[in-house]
Amino acid sequence: MSDLKFCQGTKCHQYKTKDRIKGTKGSKTYQTRRRSNFYYGGDNFCSMNCYNDWFNKYGDRAIDHFGRTTKAKHLTEDNAWEKTYDWDNRTDDRVYIYVNGITKEQRPITEEQYEDNNYTLNTS
Ligand SMILES: [Zn+2]
Repeated sequence: MSDLKFCQGTKCHQYKTKDRIKGTKGSKTYQTRRRSNFYYGGDNFCSMNCYNDWFNKYGDRAIDHFGRTTKAKHLTEDNAWEKTYDWDNRTDDRVYIYVNGITKEQRPITEEQYEDNNYTLNTS
């Protein structure tokens, strides 16, 4: 049971659904949902409602904390590389490639490079 976690929604316990009623007879309350997995907000929220409740309360402060975008970002050939994969017609194997969204240039990459979130060809 230790791998269960709570929904981070600020009002999760206020939504009156049967599955939120917990506790022993005579002292049952609506409680924050607790699950091993959630499908919203990077596995932190039980529903879009809870995700939105959190953002409405903390979103502005979170954006200010991590850095608010104050000018337009530009997609150029220096930062338009995206990982994708295709199928090798002869072997039926997956082939991993980097595709530049501006120039359409393709470069083969390994599966390890595809899975590595730190590996990038983007320089800006
Ligand atoms: Zn929730």
